[in-house]
Amino acid sequence: MANSQQNTGNLAEIAREKNIRYFLISFIDLLGAQRAKLVPASAITSIQKNGAGFAGFAASFDMSPADPDLVAMADPGSLIQLPWKPEVAWLASDLIMHGETVTQAPRNTLKRLVARAAKSGIEVKTGVECEFFLITPDGQQVADEHDSSTKPCYDASALMRRYDIIAELCDAMQHLGWEPYQNDHEDANGQFEMNWKYADALVTADRHVFFKFMARAIAEKHGLRATFMPKPFMHLTGNGCHAHISLWKDGENICYDPQDPLEISKTGYNFVGGLIHNADALCAILNPVVNSYKRINAPRTVSGSTWSPNTVTYSGDNRTHMIRVPGGGRFEMRLPDGAANPYLLQASLLAAGLDGIENKRDPGKPLDINMYTDGYKVTEAKRLPLNLLDAMRALEKSTALRAMLDDGLVDPYLKLKKIEWDAHCGHLSEWERISTLDC
Ligand code: ADP
Ligand code: MG
Ligand code: MG
Ligand code: MG
Ligand code: MG
Repeated sequence: MANSQQNTGNLAEIAREKNIRYFLISFIDLLGAQRAKLVPASAITSIQKNGAGFAGFAASFDMSPADPDLVAMADPGSLIQLPWKPEVAWLASDLIMHGETVTQAPRNTLKRLVARAAKSGIEVKTGVECEFFLITPDGQQVADEHDSSTKPCYDASALMRRYDIIAELCDAMQHLGWEPYQNDHEDANGQFEMNWKYADALVTADRHVFFKFMARAIAEKHGLRATFMPKPFMHLTGNGCHAHISLWKDGENICYDPQDPLEISKTGYNFVGGLIHNADALCAILNPVVNSYKRINAPRTVSGSTWSPNTVTYSGDNRTHMIRVPGGGRFEMRLPDGAANPYLLQASLLAAGLDGIENKRDPGKPLDINMYTDGYKVTEAKRLPLNLLDAMRALEKSTALRAMLDDGLVDPYLKLKKIEWDAHCGHLSEWERISTLDC
């Protein structure tokens, strides 16, 4: 069973028991790419002990070709046999160099923040909703040409035309013990969402990485392509990756207060206060690519709604704000999108929330209005950054988030993002040409 923490044992023995021929020793770099080495079971004993070596410069970490080996230490508790090729077992890994923990490794950062929360007795449980599109292999259009309604959300026929892919993914999650509970066609043509049960933040982050990997692999097997790109089609709703959060102490949800109108405790409000206080800097991580800003702050789509936030506000069970509180002692952060690095997504929410708890940040009053239609009336509501550069500058200037995440992560992250932004600025778009040729 995946991520069960029970596979702490000897990987060579596990290979024999489960007929594993290869191990895929995987890690996620600062920009969210999954990198891996495929190690034969015959060599796993030494790799488990000494790690798998990588040239850090070849991945996105802001390292130099002169640096020594970046060593990936597999976490046996994360082991998942690929449901579509069980002779291969995937393993998340933690990165070290010179025997020291690498500060800019996203999984290391999340583990550090989970440990920090645990010091105060807090266990963070989260769930993610990874929306994706099924598109043609050339990446140009929605794969299902009959899926063209302007109101396609929950469309039963369009969902069933993709039954083979959706059921294969859902069966895999059931088999892995993730407890999936529903699958649907989402608000854009060609868009789907599959939900599984929340778990500890690190487990959810590992599953998030694996889900993206698996969805791409299974879509490819069926001749299609899965994309988590925040806004692949301008006129359609984008790919969000909402995160639901609750905090637990000794088996009790400490975000829950049945007396409160939104059923949120003081600690819960402080966590929300931290998300609100750090929202603009958080965007640099939760909305990490140029394309992200075509999803948030977006004009209305053909379905009538973007479902993505444009202000730093929270509300009850109302989907037009950055944070929705559906009741029961949890809240939903609607800001993250499909490009967010799964570990940095969890780490940054945890960092902002812990800042809120430690500094008793007040989120202010909830706003119970339709933010899309009536938002203009609330002039004091803080707006979200309009582009990646503004978000990067907010993260650069932030004190609270920087301190929580560590400069050793934030500085190289911003350096790599600046290179990405410059590459974007160096690109002459068709719109620019058309609108300026006759200036
Ligand atoms: P919606 O579309 O209404 O936002 P979904 O059902 O698609 O909701 O997703 C809800 C996510 O929240 C799931 O991953 C679910 O497991 C998770 N979740 C439910 N309760 C909690 C909780 N107490 N703490 C953290 N996550 C939760
Ligand atoms: Mg070599
Ligand atoms: Mg959902
Ligand atoms: Mg959704
Ligand atoms: Mg949601």
